[in-house]
Amino acid sequence: MKTLILKPSKKTFNLAKKLITNGELVAFPTETVYGLGANALCDEAVKKIFVAKGRPQDNPLILHIGRKQDIKKYVKNISKTHKLLIKHFMPGPISIIFDKAENLSNVACAGGQTVAIRMPENKVAQKFINYCNLPICAPSANTSKRPSPTNANHVYDDLNGKIKLIIDGGETLVGIESTVVKVENNIIYILRAGKINKQMLEKATKLTVVDKIDSDKIPQSPGTKYTHYKPLCDMIMVKSDIVNNTIKLYDNLVASNKKPIIFCCAANLEAYGNRNIKVLGKNSEDASHNLFNYLRLAENNFDCIIAEYFSNGDMVDGLFNRMIKASSGKIV
Ligand code: AMP
Ligand code: MG
Repeated sequence: MKTLILKPSKKTFNLAKKLITNGELVAFPTETVYGLGANALCDEAVKKIFVAKGRPQDNPLILHIGRKQDIKKYVKNISKTHKLLIKHFMPGPISIIFDKAENLSNVACAGGQTVAIRMPENKVAQKFINYCNLPICAPSANTSKRPSPTNANHVYDDLNGKIKLIIDGGETLVGIESTVVKVENNIIYILRAGKINKQMLEKATKLTVVDKIDSDKIPQSPGTKYTHYKPLCDMIMVKSDIVNNTIKLYDNLVASNKKPIIFCCAANLEAYGNRNIKVLGKNSEDASHNLFNYLRLAENNFDCIIAEYFSNGDMVDGLFNRMIKASSGKIV
């Protein structure tokens, strides 16, 4: 199968619509990461996503819609708290969990009774979904376990020959996946951290917001139990005595003939002299934007990535969650 990479145009959207209607897959940009979309009403189409990615079948997909008024078509009930979340955060980088309606593919929801719904803010994503005039279920458009794709080339590297079309909308803005939330008894639970953080949810809703990430033995969001975002080389995070420990780790690796690279905060750049460095940015937003791209750039050229913990900005939790997973839990 030949994989086309096309810039957004009327011709591209028409082709995308044709492919989706015929049960094929299309990769598309969103403000978080690139998604791999299929018609959410068709089991056969949705199955192709799991095959193309090598994704475990018990990990449900997010349902992407192009208009808020479509939510009611795919869910059983919309509570007051759901309405507040929709009003404040949609469209945007949030996926909200509802009880699913009967018409949705059981494959997309991994056999569960709930569905995560998201309306992307990205205009190309909205246009693609509305052109198709179908609900589009989509996970990130990477091979399972790999860093998520933040540009069209990342998608091509992972899925070339497996899908027919990638819509190239340039680099994604946020760089890490959506915040996943569920509501129970007027309490909002964060199942996956993202750009919309605990403080933002509390401020907008005036409700209790509970962080369920990594605080439970049984993962609440099924996807969180799998290895994720792993680069091909080793990776380790440094959270305590950051600069000293980073230098120590780096120099020890060099002494044993390894080639390390430091992913650091702009403020610490000077401290590392002429060691191999990639500056992720000045805060957790910049670093989230750059992380997956830099992991893919570094993994083939270095033996180990030593990544600094970022403690500033709005995306501290989301970034830490991705970095610690990419490091397979290795942290000093
Ligand atoms: P991805 O965007 O590829 O990382 O995959 C979607 C994420 O949303 C995964 O972590 C899923 O486990 C999570 N997710 C999707 N649907 C649900 C659901 N109904 N309940 C809980 N988590 C979900
Ligand atoms: Mg993913």
